[in-house]
Amino acid sequence: MRPLIAAVDLSAIRHNYAVAKRCAPGRQAFAVVKANAYGHGVREVVASLRGEADGFAVACLEEAAEVRALDDEARVLLLEGCFEPAEYQLAAQLGLDLVIQGVEQVEALLAAPLVRPLNVWLKLDSGMHRLGFTAQALRHWHGRLRGAAQVAELNLISHFACADVRGHTLNEAQLEAFLDLLDLDFDQRSLANSAAILTMPASHMDWLRPGIMLYGATPLADLGAAELGLKPAMTLSAQLIAVREIAAGESVGYGATWEASRPSRIGTVSCGYADGYPRHAPSGTPVVVNGQRVPLAGRVSMDMLAVDLTDLPDAQVGDPVELWGAQLPVDELAEACGTIGYELLTKVTARVPRRYL
Ligand code: PLP
Repeated sequence: MRPLIAAVDLSAIRHNYAVAKRCAPGRQAFAVVKANAYGHGVREVVASLRGEADGFAVACLEEAAEVRALDDEARVLLLEGCFEPAEYQLAAQLGLDLVIQGVEQVEALLAAPLVRPLNVWLKLDSGMHRLGFTAQALRHWHGRLRGAAQVAELNLISHFACADVRGHTLNEAQLEAFLDLLDLDFDQRSLANSAAILTMPASHMDWLRPGIMLYGATPLADLGAAELGLKPAMTLSAQLIAVREIAAGESVGYGATWEASRPSRIGTVSCGYADGYPRHAPSGTPVVVNGQRVPLAGRVSMDMLAVDLTDLPDAQVGDPVELWGAQLPVDELAEACGTIGYELLTKVTARVPRRYL
């Protein structure tokens, strides 16, 4: 087998879920498992949190059906809502908690004959301006939905735009917009994503929605995951599959963008952009070989990347390489590449086998 594996430590995910719950004693939490549990494997993640998580949150109906098939008791929150009239009946059959984020959705819900009423989460646009109702519209629809045959619980939800930046003015403004609706008799309320769970206790409400923190990456711009007590869940491991010596002045890889300034040892690693490693990672990005950091050398190819082993003279073919994980936080790689841990984790492609610990 090609030596490349994404090892997923499910006990780390359980640990991180417990960290989220400890931040907000007495509150419940939807574990956010959309996008194949942020690339970690939704089946395994849901199975490992089954009985522990109060609920799961997903982006689309297909994901909701998959989670419901894995857990027939937990609440399953559909974050974007439905897009076709027939989907409301399916959502009811699956017993989902349904976000209603726009006029088309609320009208379709009120017109839908359902096998049973749904828990509805009316979404407030508190300042992100992506989905949701204005406060005024939300008050109107609250009145229409209270007591409607299609509605079991009537709940309130919103989402932060800048919770990763502590003290950002939008955070307080969004919280205030949410609290301005406290006079409406909602059954449950939910506002906090990972960053807000960790830094804004006033936003905890009834239900938390931890996503990235479950997977052991940081949701905050200025603090690493380890400092937050989170354990990394995924380690992406490969091997050195070739090692060669090159002379000063010779180059490495497509475009010959890296040139040896001295006689150099170049290692070729079994991981490339078709596996999810970012092609735009610049030369110098850290890669861990035999537990030591060495710099990426030249452009990332589809199936391989190269590292400069000149300062690691004993490294040889077959030696272990870590692209990110326990020894190199995914957030550190993300920063070197001008992206975020979320993107790297969700982009690990299907051809990379996952191994569960
Ligand atoms: N709630 C909603 C509506 C989301 O879209 C997301 C993720 O994008 C989350 C919660 C979880 O956010 P995070 O992964 O930052 O905890």
